[in-house]
Amino acid sequence: MAEKRDYYEVLGVERNADDSAIKKAYRQLAKKYHPDMNPGDAAAEKKFKEASEAYAVLSDPDKRRQYDQFGHAAFENGGAGGAGGFDFGDMGDIFGDIFGDLFGGGRRRANNGPMKGANVRAGVRITFEEAAFGCEKELDLTLKDPCPNCKGTGAKPGTSPVTCSKCGGKGQVVFTQQSLFGMVKNVQTCPECNGTGKMIKEKCGECRGSGFVAKRKKIQVSVPGGIDNGQSIRIRDKGEPGVNGGPRGDLLVEVTVMRHPVFQRQDYNVYSSAPITFAQAALGAEVRITTIDGDVLYEVKPGTPTDTKVRLKGKGIPSLRNKNIRGDHYVTLVVQVPDKLNEEQKQLLRQFDEACGGSLSEGKAAGGKKEKAEKKGFGEKLKENIKDLFEDNK
Ligand SMILES: [Zn+2]
Ligand SMILES: [Zn+2]
Repeated sequence: MAEKRDYYEVLGVERNADDSAIKKAYRQLAKKYHPDMNPGDAAAEKKFKEASEAYAVLSDPDKRRQYDQFGHAAFENGGAGGAGGFDFGDMGDIFGDIFGDLFGGGRRRANNGPMKGANVRAGVRITFEEAAFGCEKELDLTLKDPCPNCKGTGAKPGTSPVTCSKCGGKGQVVFTQQSLFGMVKNVQTCPECNGTGKMIKEKCGECRGSGFVAKRKKIQVSVPGGIDNGQSIRIRDKGEPGVNGGPRGDLLVEVTVMRHPVFQRQDYNVYSSAPITFAQAALGAEVRITTIDGDVLYEVKPGTPTDTKVRLKGKGIPSLRNKNIRGDHYVTLVVQVPDKLNEEQKQLLRQFDEACGGSLSEGKAAGGKKEKAEKKGFGEKLKENIKDLFEDNK
């Protein structure tokens, strides 16, 4: 395969282009190279597809971030369980989005042959740890199945659907329409038969002609370790049934990661803060730090100031692509100031202060007494202060 061109280059936008610039660039290219504008021009079709692919990625914030980080490799091997990677099966949505207003028509369907079923979206809530290391979840979903009574035809058993008279069984109708580019021949799904090419005269009693019945199903979801809030897992063939014998659509499970009381996450790094005592900070100590792997011991250096940031290498979230590659855990060490002290502790702190030069008495002893106080020992100073207190009360 030829070297793929950079998506930004394809669209002719800067790497920091915003969404509207990307959309604008794509619309221009799409107008220029759209197959309807260039019938039979293979080069134009190739350019159109290339631009559409670039737009599919750059217009999606998640995919764009992955592309910025990993380039084309981001979408090559699909990633664990299909998460993270993506295929272009959803391109129809993008065309619908972009061409809905561009061509004035709805989405196009190729013909009344087999069509893949629609994708179904669902959600799953998992804990921080489950997101980090992966988990198995069971979803309880109501999904459509082909109706067993009519075998999905929608026609009453014993009868069969007849060819649609509006489209002659083609499943689509052609009409000409005034558009931005003048008269455009537009092909649209037949509204009579919804593209199936068939009409049902006598409807199946079970499914009322839809060909589908709703069924509750338990679906197993393997959530890959490293997944982040908002990412989706694609489970193939668990979406809606296909039409005219087409394959089922996919189930897209969006992951919501619950907040953790201690850990925060940014990409594959974990952030937390850990309290240390004044003595630990001043003297140095071995402290216990909670990580997603459990507690680890960390050697706090003597004289560690509060808000010191410590990096625990490789203690972060495993990568979605390779669980042996992990982010880091950053801990902010916060020196605690005790708010409840007993008399003995207070006394010891005063002694400590005294040993440091007696900052506690600064400003407390009034005026001329200050100098005198500084020369005296802690005990004597205390006596003096108490004496002052009684004298004031006289
Ligand atoms: Zn039926
Ligand atoms: Zn029809």
